[in-house]
This record gives sequence, structure tokens and C-alpha cells, in this order.
Amino acid sequence: MIWDIHVHVAGVGRRNNGNYLSPQFQRSVACRLFLRNLGLTADLFNDEGVDDHIGRLIVSQINASGLDRAVLLAFDAAHQDDGTRDEQRTLMVTDNDFVAGLAATSGKTLFGASVHPYRRDALEELERLIKKGACLVKWLPSAQNIQPDQPRCFPFYDLLAKHNVPLLSHTGAEHTLKAFPDSLSDPRRLAPALERGVTVIAAHCGTSLFLHEKSYFKAWQEMALRHENLYGDISAFGVVTRIWRLGTLLRSPALAAKCLFGSDFPVPPWPLSCLGKISMNETLAIRRTRNFFDQSVALMKAAGVTDEIFARAGQLLRLPGRSSTPPLLAMGKVAA
Ligand SMILES: [Zn+2]
Repeated sequence: MIWDIHVHVAGVGRRNNGNYLSPQFQRSVACRLFLRNLGLTADLFNDEGVDDHIGRLIVSQINASGLDRAVLLAFDAAHQDDGTRDEQRTLMVTDNDFVAGLAATSGKTLFGASVHPYRRDALEELERLIKKGACLVKWLPSAQNIQPDQPRCFPFYDLLAKHNVPLLSHTGAEHTLKAFPDSLSDPRRLAPALERGVTVIAAHCGTSLFLHEKSYFKAWQEMALRHENLYGDISAFGVVTRIWRLGTLLRSPALAAKCLFGSDFPVPPWPLSCLGKISMNETLAIRRTRNFFDQSVALMKAAGVTDEIFARAGQLLRLPGRSSTPPLLAMGKVAA
């Protein structure tokens, strides 16, 4: 089984569906890459049906790929310390109900919710979305203004732990959606969540993208070995500065046992930058792969990522309808 736990969805919100992309973000390189990966241009943003169109394209690429399951991620707004929405510094919102609806259109896609813990209705909203089928909750602290070690987050952690919902939280430097300091995405800030029993998946294992940036990779490694319930995803590892970190992870059985696969769609993998780790023939074959998700999987397989890493999410995510009784027996359709 191949699970991709890190697929971003975005929309403009023309039909007031709660989605939002700030004008600043619409002009960014990241946004242009997002559109290019879907074969679109920015003209589409004026179209009424733009969000449904983008959503359908993402799901059809997933359906056409070799992935077995993919988690589509919602993205909550930045909030101020007083719990109100920070309209000024919000770069993107991808609405929870929009993503839940999209995820329901395919047997391969799952709903990843995003709820800001400072919201006054954070706990009610989290309960509502868990009932709606959220398989995890996604945060990007340096984009949303979340300080994960603040005691105000603790009731949120207790609710996640109660329902066995993992927290996928970005760790390390952020480039695309940066509005607040990167220090918010220090994995050590996630210690209170771990201590309260939450399964935490540190996106990118605390790595940085550029050499001059502060890397939290060492901090993540130490924590992953100490906390049974801390994991990391290898999303966006298909670039020269991160592919070498993968070697460190794969050489250590204890760390490899903590890794999950994520593509970080639409952030493109750069197969050529992984030359040396991967042979020229493999690199060229991967570059020719048209489907984004297949390309991302092929690159990680060539770099040595194991079947266990691709399959691990199946044991960690909260899967709606998961039961200790086989489903057919539970429905009374199979004679005892
Ligand atoms: Zn991401």
C-alpha cells in the first residue's frame, strides 16, 4: 500500500465556499508552480467554478496514479493571540468542508482537517470535523501563528488524543506561506502534545531547505528516538539539500521506523538534483514520469524509501469506520 499523507489543496473562494488565496500569494512562484502542475494558468482564478475545477484535477491525478490513499489537506487561517482571525497575515485558507466534500468524491482520498487551536470555537470545530471523517489535523505554525507549547493548546491536544487523531505539524523553515517566525515550527515545541498522548507527525522531520537556514533535523531525531508517538514525514525530500538527510534516516532502523511518505503536492520534486544518490538512468526515467504523484513515489523509491514507510500511515491515521470487527461481520452479512 502506498499512502501519501501530505497533499495540499487550494482554492480562490469565488463562490464564498471559505477558500481564500491572498493577492500576494496569487503572485508567488509557489502559486505559479501549483497551477503549472495542474496544467492551468492564473486566468482561471476569475472563473466562478475555479475551486471545483482545481479540486477535480487534483483528485483525478490521484485516481490515475499508483497511490492507494492520499490525504487532502485543509488549511485554517492565521489567528491573532486573542483568538480572532488575522485577516492581514492570512495568505491562504482552504476550507474544511470544501476539502471533506472533495475527499468524499474518491475512494482513494481522505480528509485532513485544519483547526487553529486559538479559535474560540476550536474544540467544537475539532469535534465536528472528526465526526465528518478527519483522519488527521494539519498545522503550519509559522503561517498560522501557532505556538504549540503554549498551555492554551493543551485542551486541543487532549481532544486529539481522546479520538486518536494524529497532528501533522510543519517543522523547520517555511518558504511558501511564511508570515510568522520559523521558531514556531521548532519540533521541540511539540513536546506537550506528545506528553499528552497525541500521535504527532512532524512534517519534513525538522529539515531546512537552504544551507544557511536553521535546521531542526537533529532535534527531531533526538525526539523521535525518545518519544514513541513522534513520527516525521519525508515530504519535499526530493531536492538536493534534503535527499542526503534521507540517507541518515534510512541507515538507522529506529529512525526509518518513524518515517511516513508524503508528496507535499504541489511542491515539485527535482530528480536531477538527486543525482549521485540516484543513477543518471533512473533520474531521467523519473523525470519522464508525467503524473506528479507517480513521479514523487518513483523518486523516493529510487532513493531507497521502503515499502514500510509508504504503508505506515495505514496504522497511524484515524480511519473512519475502522473497527476491530471485520466490516462484513459487523453488518451481519456473513454467517458466523
Ligand atoms: Zn506542505
